[in-house]
Amino acid sequence: MNLANQIFSRQILKEYYFLYGNQIAKHIKEIPKREFAYAFVDRPGLKRHLSLENSERLCDMLKTISPLHFYHSGAYYLFPDKEMDAKNWIEADLIFDIDVDHFENKELPNQDFIEYCKLCHNCFPPSTDICIKCNNKLKSKLWLNQKDLLEAKNEAVRLIKVLNQSFGVHETNMMLYFSGSRGFHVILDKNEFKNLDQSSRMDIVDYMRLTGYNLSYSEPIDLKNILKQFIQDDYKIFDKKERKMLESIKKKM
Ligand SMILES: [Zn+2]
Repeated sequence: MNLANQIFSRQILKEYYFLYGNQIAKHIKEIPKREFAYAFVDRPGLKRHLSLENSERLCDMLKTISPLHFYHSGAYYLFPDKEMDAKNWIEADLIFDIDVDHFENKELPNQDFIEYCKLCHNCFPPSTDICIKCNNKLKSKLWLNQKDLLEAKNEAVRLIKVLNQSFGVHETNMMLYFSGSRGFHVILDKNEFKNLDQSSRMDIVDYMRLTGYNLSYSEPIDLKNILKQFIQDDYKIFDKKERKMLESIKKKM
């Protein structure tokens, strides 16, 4: 980032954290058990393994440093400021990451690109090949478009419905955030889910994707109820084979 852009970004970020720092800090629970990290405006890299006592300290940090990006762990640790192998994992939030790039039937024409110059950091419309300022060859970068974001939003709403109907999680125990990239994070704020181990978390994913579920053993009425939750006009979370199977079952219903 050149100096002019750095100064501009710093100003925007300072204003942002000044206005929203309190609100951001207030939404993060159990601050002393989490690892915090941030990215710099003026250089690459990440400052990691930070531990903070409470939301006031976190808010102070955001306002003073005004980082380019700011992260916290989904896991809770005994010693969040130590290296990974010495942190002592206690438990972790159950987080679903919905990213439009990972939809398996994503059609490429939907995606928008901009052309980016690595030398002067200027952006140009898709049809441009060479930077008009420094004659450098441009690189294509994927750009978020409204249609993609809408698809991701629909998936998030669908996930929330399944979590509510199948797992009994009330909407007030779910937090939905824009991921900052091309999708959303759904975080469950319920203690029962926090101490689930890796294999239990994978079981939930399998349930969501109907992996290993033999639909031919289901009673027609059960089958209808199960599929009602999953079948809609699209099958974004399923792969090609699973979608084909669901389509054929839908036809027989
Ligand atoms: Zn250039």
